[in-house]
Amino acid sequence: MERYDLLVIGGGAAGLAAAREGALLGARVALVEQGFLGGTCLNRGDLPKLWLRRAALFLRAVQQAGDLGITVPEVALDWPAVLRQQHQLLQRLQAEKEAELRAAGITLVRGTATFQSPTAVKVGERLLSADRIVLAVGTVPGRLEIPGDDLILDIADLYDLHDFPSSLVLVGQGPYALETAHLFRGAGAHVTLVVPGAAPLPDEDRAFGEELLRLSRARGIRVLTHAVPIGAEALDHDRVLRVRLPAGEEPLGAHVLAAERPRQVPAEPLGLAVAGVEVRDGRIPVNGFLQTTVPHIYAAGAADGPAHGTGLALYEGRLAARNALRGNTEPVDYRYVCRVLFTDPPAAAVGLSEEAARAAFHEIEATALPVSYLGRALVDQAREGLVKVIAEARTGRLLGVWLIGESADEVITAFAAALRAGWTRDELLAVVPPYPTMSAGAWAYATAPALGHALACCG
Ligand SMILES: Cc1cc2nc3c(=O)[nH]c(=O)nc-3n(C[C@H](O)[C@H](O)[C@H](O)COP(=O)(O)OP(=O)(O)OC[C@H]3O[C@@H](n4cnc5c(N)ncnc54)[C@H](O)[C@@H]3O)c2cc1C
Repeated sequence: MERYDLLVIGGGAAGLAAAREGALLGARVALVEQGFLGGTCLNRGDLPKLWLRRAALFLRAVQQAGDLGITVPEVALDWPAVLRQQHQLLQRLQAEKEAELRAAGITLVRGTATFQSPTAVKVGERLLSADRIVLAVGTVPGRLEIPGDDLILDIADLYDLHDFPSSLVLVGQGPYALETAHLFRGAGAHVTLVVPGAAPLPDEDRAFGEELLRLSRARGIRVLTHAVPIGAEALDHDRVLRVRLPAGEEPLGAHVLAAERPRQVPAEPLGLAVAGVEVRDGRIPVNGFLQTTVPHIYAAGAADGPAHGTGLALYEGRLAARNALRGNTEPVDYRYVCRVLFTDPPAAAVGLSEEAARAAFHEIEATALPVSYLGRALVDQAREGLVKVIAEARTGRLLGVWLIGESADEVITAFAAALRAGWTRDELLAVVPPYPTMSAGAWAYATAPALGHALACCG
């Protein structure tokens, strides 16, 4: 039996962060991973998607080169070459993760962990035990429960598709489906996004969601809302997805069908029941310190909640290790988690939506201005998007910021820091951002929305 202070199961973002933190705190740490280090983010989700998105954005930029007076002969997407380079990048990153673990003195155990008791797991022939355990096992995609489900790829399979799909029908509601629709549309596919509910982003600020929907349609994505998939069939080399719409049934033909499938924690073969850890609605419930129903076992990342991204998995992994090793001293705080959408243009948010702020505060100010007048937006010809700021009316304290436009994914962090500091609109004036940048414009809008673009640009 090998004994450790901290055993981390799962080597995705949450597990790597937990193991690193444990080692930094001086614990003897083992990390068990059955597949590729880096988990969903590095191998199946964020990074593969971002690499393809980069190619799609580049393609569009080259197609528009004429606007800048640059002549480009003929532009074509060499999809296999893009995938080859993506694979090279991912392999390099996986190797780097392994080297980082070794340098930190963390024992990497390759294989599938199965609980033998609440404090011990078996991995192949090895038996490992620890007084403290962090479950960072992520989630796995499930079935759609419709006939022909096996003809529908998981959304992540699209990032590794051998042949580029000339047409794609994608089922999903939420950020990843919308981002993926933008990516493939940008790369030249005909894309239909099938949204089972009323909106692609039902949990976000309404105006923000509506603007993204409008932009998606303007990009040429066919977005069908209230569209419930009821079956899939093969038709020669193509596929057909039958959907139920308010007006009746419609068959949607495409080269490829894919879906953002419901996901759940891989309770087996992990053997969570042997450890006594409860699973509810496909996730591991935790308290405010990320402790599961078994006091010495913590959970972090996608395994413990549906509303998750990699940033949050890293944050939780680190915190779970700290609380596991030092007692429950640091509660989780989700108020300043930035959300991002890698659409074209990107979008990001932090804090409350207008609807949530109205429900929580007596009086609020919500202002939304287009980015089209910002100096940088004009120069870069990136005039699509908005800056929406929500503040408490009485004090001017910032409550939420919603951005759509170039660099929104980067600019949002500055606003998150301002929210965390409890700044008011006026206090933003103490910071002078570099000009002309998108952050300078968004900052100016946020300080004085009434002046709007007059403040945002010198000319
Ligand atoms: C299509 C898609 C796109 C996404 N894009 C983004 C994005 O752009 N930005 C963003 O922030 N988030 C994105 N996400 C979400 C993000 O990838 C996840 O939130 C994040 O990876 C969760 O990390 P994790 O460590 O909790 O789980 P995972 O990364 O899934 O890691 C869990 C690991 O545990 C291992 N494991 C499971 N069971 C066992 C066992 N019994 N023994 C040993 N090992 C085991 C698995 O092999 C896996 O490597 C995306 C997700 C998807 C599906």
